[in-house]
Amino acid sequence: MIFNPEYECMERDKMRELQSRRLVETVKTCYEKSPFYRKKMDEIGVKPEDIKSIDDIHKLPFTTKIDLRDEYPFGLQVVPQSEVVRIHASSGTTGKPVVATYTKHDLDVWSEGVARVMSAGGVTKDDIVQVSYGYGLFTGGLGAHDGALKIGATQLPTSSGNTKKQIMLMKDFGTTALCCTPSYAMHIAEAIESSHTLSLDDMKLKVGFFGAEPWSNGMRKTIEKRLRLKAIDIYGLTEISGPGVGGECECQDGIHIWEDFFYPEIINPETLQPVPEGEFGELVFTTLCKEAMPILRYRTRDLTRIRYEKCKCGRTAARIDRIFGRSDDMLIIRGVNVFPSQIETCLTEFPAFQPYYFITVDRINHEDSFEIKVELRPEFYVTPPEKQLVYVNPLYKRIVSVTGIKPSIKVVPPMTLERSEGKAKHVLDMRKYDD
Ligand code: ADP
Ligand code: ZN
Repeated sequence: MIFNPEYECMERDKMRELQSRRLVETVKTCYEKSPFYRKKMDEIGVKPEDIKSIDDIHKLPFTTKIDLRDEYPFGLQVVPQSEVVRIHASSGTTGKPVVATYTKHDLDVWSEGVARVMSAGGVTKDDIVQVSYGYGLFTGGLGAHDGALKIGATQLPTSSGNTKKQIMLMKDFGTTALCCTPSYAMHIAEAIESSHTLSLDDMKLKVGFFGAEPWSNGMRKTIEKRLRLKAIDIYGLTEISGPGVGGECECQDGIHIWEDFFYPEIINPETLQPVPEGEFGELVFTTLCKEAMPILRYRTRDLTRIRYEKCKCGRTAARIDRIFGRSDDMLIIRGVNVFPSQIETCLTEFPAFQPYYFITVDRINHEDSFEIKVELRPEFYVTPPEKQLVYVNPLYKRIVSVTGIKPSIKVVPPMTLERSEGKAKHVLDMRKYDD
């Protein structure tokens, strides 16, 4: 179902008019109320009057994660604290977290974005939506929660963790929609498979909304099979709002971006120039109706491409490809660019392997080492290692052909790789600690 056809299916020229009006307003507010943006615009000699339509967006300065950290906590806020009803922060594994603040209207926009994705996935007020994203400062939990509320579905706010209980409630309450990271969805699938008392036959799962970390199409197929549901990709980031900046529709052919709220651009991360439609690059967003913390041209570091043709579902909202990685996740090993998601894709092509992996890169005798720890599914696990070669050799060949470099593959016993309840960690780059 289409939650808001007026906007999701708006004619493209009408959409551009709307975006133009909203951009002009946003830029005016930023210049008048934000010393940060006034300084940035003054530095490059751009005045609000120079921005007459969305076609002028390239004149505006970029905003980066470093800017947001420098302005910690509330430097980018343009409304008085009394207007702010919620504060979130992204994980910020290094340094200070990135903070986002929201007015009541901002929360409405955010939850509508999530509701649009959930509706596209078939959720109605008759569904029970289990929110197994973490609740707290992380936007995943409350974001999915408010989206389900907007539709009038029944929310089941389990948060992440305590997997056995999650599964028990899933069965007893008849959960029909599951929201969590793809890593956690796999973990839940595996816990159901290894349970002696519960099976998927006891479950009513229909659809899952998975996101917050890169995942491959192979992983999607694995999850769909192992949880017997339709897996919908939901995308977003705290800086721009939270989950639901966009999401897949029932066609599962690209992530629709809710362009009436967030204006997407794809740029070449080196030249910072826009790339032609359909080419890969870095995704950049400008918020078009955010009140508390409007953001101009935010460099997400997420890599994808964009298409504007109308989707089979009837929506005209632009579609991005699923994110295949963040520029800062990219490893350069022996001079070759490798994305962790490539390893995941390879693994999901071989049913004997679990889709779990852990990459360690180091520099030994002036050469990069590239070790990938993988797990065989319990029913395929054999020792000694020579007996595993029948599984490892084809995987090795596939990884060499996909990445162009030779890994050392190490099979570890079942259930040894860490299972994640949130965003999974896949890489340890020891070279960072050398010198
Ligand atoms: P953090 O930067 O701490 O991870 P967020 O929780 O705001 O903070 O995460 C946003 C980021 O998560 C995005 O910029 C993107 O890299 C990743 N992400 C979110 N949803 C998806 C998705 N569906 N597919 C791939 N990556 C995603
Ligand atoms: Zn569609």
